[in-house]
Amino acid sequence: MIRKILKLIKKYDEIVIARHIGPDPDAVASQIALRDVIKNTYPDKKVYAVGVHVAKFKFLGQLDKVDESKLNNPLLIVVDNPNTYRLDSVDVSKYNDLILIDHHPKEDLFDMATVTYVDESSSSAAQLVADIILSSKLKMNADIASKLFVGIVADSDRFLLGYTNYRTFRTVSRLLKDFKIDMSKMYEKLYTRPIAEVKFQAYIATNLTITENNFGYIILDEQTIKEMGVDSSAASNMINDFNYIKELLVWSFASYDAKNKIYKVNIRSRGPIVNEVASDYNGGGHKLASGARLTEKKDVDKLFEDLDLQCKKYKENNHEN
Ligand code: AMP
Repeated sequence: MIRKILKLIKKYDEIVIARHIGPDPDAVASQIALRDVIKNTYPDKKVYAVGVHVAKFKFLGQLDKVDESKLNNPLLIVVDNPNTYRLDSVDVSKYNDLILIDHHPKEDLFDMATVTYVDESSSSAAQLVADIILSSKLKMNADIASKLFVGIVADSDRFLLGYTNYRTFRTVSRLLKDFKIDMSKMYEKLYTRPIAEVKFQAYIATNLTITENNFGYIILDEQTIKEMGVDSSAASNMINDFNYIKELLVWSFASYDAKNKIYKVNIRSRGPIVNEVASDYNGGGHKLASGARLTEKKDVDKLFEDLDLQCKKYKENNHEN
């Protein structure tokens, strides 16, 4: 697989690297690290990391704007995204070859790809990108290694989440051993937040409804978000902080994004499988970490009911909290 990926990268003069909409640090770090390592190795190639710019992730590097109609037979590489409908800023039909590097359950891009490097048991897309680079002659440097480190740390939630295993530590260990990564600097950039967000976290903890089936949920409406002085993506950033709470088997936050008129729903689980439930509500993701986007509040309520039911079934199958 890796050999085929490297061959395609070598063959093409123009390469576009894309990821999912509403990106997280793993998606952005993976695409930027891959772009930079290809440029570093092949200075004559034109390589673009595309997608909507997110101010918070500027420390990972700048993204590129590209007019696909002006490209000359480019290669498309997709990282951290399994499906066409969540691709940010690319039209997959415009490319003859597609490389997919991902750690999500397989969806339509898997069947469309020329070569895949997909491993659902990887902590992050960045871990997979790092493995490809470290087993090749692609020219890594400390800056690129630092970005991959951030992607792995962020998506594994500091090595707390499932899919963190010896392979994750082996990859991180190689990055740290071979390149000078300033970990404190990276943690500072990734985790420094305003006190308003900490207060918002306290608000969520105080107002979370917890059912008898150990499902915790909250709807964060426009007014609450405004009053707390945070933005609509703040709750998403703290969903993992509610892990390892005794009373919670599954927990979910629905934040109203007034700009896009949509509820962004984050779902996390310590047992019950949630991505199948999310996929009934315009969502998806991993078995224990999923998300959904809904326009109607009544659908958020229904999704919460189904998640509660999923907890109930899980407990009935003798899995006690
Ligand atoms: P989040 O809660 O936004 O961090 O997302 C958790 C996981 O679910 C990630 O792997 C996302 O890519 C995935 N995900 C989030 N929203 C959606 C959606 N609307 N459709 C499919 N997958 C999603």
